Amino acid sequence: MMALVHSKDYEKHNTGAHPENKERIRVIMDSLEKERILNFKEINSFYDEYPKLNGNIDVIKPEMASREDILRVHQESYVDYLKTFCGSGGGYLDFDTVVSQESYKIAKLAAGGAITASKLVLDGYNYAYSLARPPGHHATKEKAMGFCLFNNLAVAIEYLREFHGIKKFMIFDFDAHYGNGTAEIYLNDPNVLYISIHQDPRTIFPGSGFIEEIGNSEGEGYNINIPMPPGSTSEDYMYILERLLEPVAHDFSAEFHFIEVGFDGHKDDPLSRLCLDDEFYPWIMSKMMEISNKMVLIFEGGYNLSALSRCNMKMINVLRNKLPIYYDEVYKNHIMELNVSDETKKIFKNIQDVFSSFYEF
Ligand SMILES: [Zn+2]
Repeated sequence: MMALVHSKDYEKHNTGAHPENKERIRVIMDSLEKERILNFKEINSFYDEYPKLNGNIDVIKPEMASREDILRVHQESYVDYLKTFCGSGGGYLDFDTVVSQESYKIAKLAAGGAITASKLVLDGYNYAYSLARPPGHHATKEKAMGFCLFNNLAVAIEYLREFHGIKKFMIFDFDAHYGNGTAEIYLNDPNVLYISIHQDPRTIFPGSGFIEEIGNSEGEGYNINIPMPPGSTSEDYMYILERLLEPVAHDFSAEFHFIEVGFDGHKDDPLSRLCLDDEFYPWIMSKMMEISNKMVLIFEGGYNLSALSRCNMKMINVLRNKLPIYYDEVYKNHIMELNVSDETKKIFKNIQDVFSSFYEF
């Protein structure tokens, strides 16, 4: 059973011609509606031409995160600053993060979407996907960064801790950029395992996410970074993830699983120099479904509209049809070492060495 948490209000975070704009979620919703796989439980269809759909993905409205929900993660001075800044009309918060009048409210709705998705999984859905914007994984406790205002995922984790007594969380982030905000928030926390595969930070924003950043004090060993050189392909990704994800997840044995979903590692994406093809996205979902049959997905990056909607559809089709095995046949060639670069093998070896006292993989 799968739920999609979404509101048309997410389009009200108006960023103009910025790469992170409302078209991103609109093309995704449009593609899902056209396939007639959505079942609007609580809200009307967004487009009149498809008024009565009865698919197997339930579309659920996000709740608005409360101020308390946000303050479990973010500094009060930052939250107030953002509220005032947006209230006075918005503008650029930093070099690349822009907000409009409504953005503060919509950012709370995006954080609330992550909470709603988490509750749906607790209520019995296998997979719940928060399709929201603004994205969240660069937002730190005290500032907006990289198109992100609030750290949606962290807000959901702290909600689950406060109200549901859940202790151990695993996050896997395959956005092209390192989720520095999420990583930093949990750097000292042994109960939140953050695994990120991303483009080598020497070549891309935010400039952090090296293998050596393994977590601090009690959190050592719970921050696993897989920095991939520009030009890395699905084969390179699969080589490492096939060997690392399952053993680490098994050792850690989380109570709750999150995925930060980013499509900007695709070869057509303008914001990264990674070269993933369409097949990576269904493959990684199949892998994660083997790790857990309950997961919350949080939408992050992806800026080529056509690749974004196409890859999202392929990923969702795996989730909604529960096809955890199908990758074996389709991807046999992908995981053959023949197509994997020596650099990738070196990176994997390096990660193995750095984490040898923590995990066996
Ligand atoms: Zn990204």
